[in-house]
Amino acid sequence: MDKQELFICACNSVEHQLIMSYFADEEDREVYCSVHLKPERNIFKRIWKAIKYIFGHRSIYGDFDEFIFKQEDADRLQQIADYLKTCKERKPEH
Ligand SMILES: [Zn+2]
Repeated sequence: MDKQELFICACNSVEHQLIMSYFADEEDREVYCSVHLKPERNIFKRIWKAIKYIFGHRSIYGDFDEFIFKQEDADRLQQIADYLKTCKERKPEH
């Protein structure tokens, strides 16, 4: 990936990060979004999560957290959206 954009959540917690990566000259316009998951700092909560994991417990909702985009990041988001839109060759529909 030669282009990477880091977004920090509007709540300013560096635990809430998105990194969008893509190749600027790639014909197949694909953008990869890496989500940084908030680590649990409390050792007892981590052990409790580990025990639940070992016994196969899964939240029916999955593991979610939210990310709030900042208004000032709109231009960078637009650049990525424009990159996706300017497809050099249309891929056949599946
Ligand atoms: Zn946040």
